[in-house]
Amino acid sequence: MSVLVVGSTALDSIKTPTASRPRLLGGSASYAAIAASFFGPVRLVGVVGADFPRRYIQLYRRRKIDVEGLQIKSGKTFHWSGEYEANMDNRRTLLTELGVFENFTPHLAAAHKTSPFVLLANIAPSLQAHVLDQMSKPKFVVADTMDLWLNIALNDLLALLKRVDGFVLNESEAHQLTECTNMLHALRALHKLGPKYVIIKKGHNGALLSAPDGLFLSPAYPLRRVVDPTGAGDSFVGGLMGYLANARGPIEAKIRRAMIYGSVVASFCCEGFGLTRTSKIKRADIEKRVNELERLTRF
Ligand code: AMP
Repeated sequence: MSVLVVGSTALDSIKTPTASRPRLLGGSASYAAIAASFFGPVRLVGVVGADFPRRYIQLYRRRKIDVEGLQIKSGKTFHWSGEYEANMDNRRTLLTELGVFENFTPHLAAAHKTSPFVLLANIAPSLQAHVLDQMSKPKFVVADTMDLWLNIALNDLLALLKRVDGFVLNESEAHQLTECTNMLHALRALHKLGPKYVIIKKGHNGALLSAPDGLFLSPAYPLRRVVDPTGAGDSFVGGLMGYLANARGPIEAKIRRAMIYGSVVASFCCEGFGLTRTSKIKRADIEKRVNELERLTRF
């Protein structure tokens, strides 16, 4: 089944302690869509400017991503730049140039409105809601977010959370949103905001799922070397949704395994700048790491 992904489609300029790369393919929707594309059909909704390199559109197409919902406007593509500290966990934003993203209104093609799985990747919560307004009875909707929206669009985010099945956020965002330092208390507070499934991302420490049948801890795949962790969270949720949309059985029976698939796709993302490593792997590479994780955690 297909996954509709809406979010940012960007050019990212990234600096790590050892190297820097300008104007890579980035944006939450790019990472999530490419991650989901290993499992089945994906529809991408976003906006880019006239400066968006054709090779990036060709990359979406090579991954068989439907780009009918990708608007190409005159003007500049959203450009984001970030710099990592030596530990690669701490990052600061150097630049955010909104460009055509500033006046973005997602419009869904008729065929996209019936997509069963919807991933509202990181973007303003009012735009995430605008996508949901256009959908007809999706089967499973997951929203991602970032600290910026907690700071400047909290009411929009709270309204959105009443309408989604799953919510994905990182640990510091969970603390900020709930004002709870204890993770179990935070999870209870997050469920009260609406979502049945809450997933807390903990970077290289993995992720935590809270579902109706209890908690599940997903490890991160251990890497010898992290080149660039940008987009790992988006790749995680993209892989998770791609797996959920295409594996058999009810959501509750397959979401734990989906967390593992998300973790594995995120691990490949960290091994190269931007999407360079992820765009070279095959489904068999993912399966190999899933099997390794299974061996690493069985006891
Ligand atoms: P992550 O590393 O998972 O936090 O995601 C990084 C991606 O988020 C980059 O590709 C950026 O282009 C994108 N991004 C940064 N700021 C924003 C923003 N304000 N809205 C949407 N996407 C953003």
